[in-house]
Amino acid sequence: MLSYAPEKQAPHGGTAALQDRLLAWYDRHARRLPWRALPGRRPDPYRVWLSEIMLQQTTVATVGPYFEVFLSRWPCLEDLAAASLEEVLTAWAGLGYYARARNLHKCARVLVESHGGRFPEEESELRKLPGIGPYTAAAIAAIAFDRPAAPVDGNWERVVARLFAIRTPLPAAKPALKKAAGSLVPRQRPGDFAQAVMDLGATVCLPGRPKCLLCPVAELCAARYLDIAPLLPGKAPKAEKPTRRGIAFWITDARGRLLLRRRPEHGLLGGMVEVPSTEWREENWAEADALGQAPLAADWRPLPGRVRHTFTHFHLELEVWSGHGEGDIPHGRWVSLDMLGEQALPSVMRKVVAHALKHGF
Ligand code: SF4
Repeated sequence: MLSYAPEKQAPHGGTAALQDRLLAWYDRHARRLPWRALPGRRPDPYRVWLSEIMLQQTTVATVGPYFEVFLSRWPCLEDLAAASLEEVLTAWAGLGYYARARNLHKCARVLVESHGGRFPEEESELRKLPGIGPYTAAAIAAIAFDRPAAPVDGNWERVVARLFAIRTPLPAAKPALKKAAGSLVPRQRPGDFAQAVMDLGATVCLPGRPKCLLCPVAELCAARYLDIAPLLPGKAPKAEKPTRRGIAFWITDARGRLLLRRRPEHGLLGGMVEVPSTEWREENWAEADALGQAPLAADWRPLPGRVRHTFTHFHLELEVWSGHGEGDIPHGRWVSLDMLGEQALPSVMRKVVAHALKHGF
């Protein structure tokens, strides 16, 4: 049985057995993932990095097709560094958290310009690169370079909280979980071990309903012994998300082209393309207020219904107003509707497009 005492650094009884069992289980049950090296093959750091950036806050199923597109368009780091930011953002559109795409592009350029196109192998050096935080640095160091590191993501947190029966709720438990996770990392095959824990969390030690009967380390698991596994890790109640509101202006010209605008480089959806809108705020919009923020004068017609989207920190409700207009606006461009697929439109703006098309703007 594993036990965890934060004040002690010494290895826990059962750690070696846990490492052996988990690695043996991984040899038989490792998930086949597009970015994973085949058994016995050396992982490609470019693929590992690309997948780890894409997988932040995003599921394996969603990432798969994006990963394939990126890899076929930009098969190596040099190709990605040579792409324009706009091309990268367009290929990323729909994956969300767009700062990741901007940092991905910046990181590729830094590596090519200052590191000879090679990734550093040390966690501490990896963390100096754009978009690579503690988790991603540990993941790349472990998976790509077989360095002893614990990439503690949600799967790791859940598995470790249960193995050691750490009852402190998240996020307060994070330091204890990280420390306990570090105590498990073996000297031999740390990269496979990191992925074994990820796979165990993704396929066996599931949130709310762990499949303990199928678990290779069930006999070493404190939460299972105490019969509290489904309850861990505890989570502090989340604050309610506020709802923000805005008006999106669907403006077409005499040639049927749509007015789009590029958002500022920094901030939410930075660098992405949008249907111009008012600011997004919690207060309702009076008509005169909204008109004051319209990019062009037009004879507006509100479309029925609303577009709803949820961001990390707030819900958004957009009304869509349709009108005809002419002229230029800062960072604006007129785009024919059959070229919308070529634009870096984030998911919320794709919803606006679908809404306008549905209601026959
Ligand atoms: Fe998770 Fe159950 Fe395995 Fe413990 S025994 S690690 S709770 S699946």
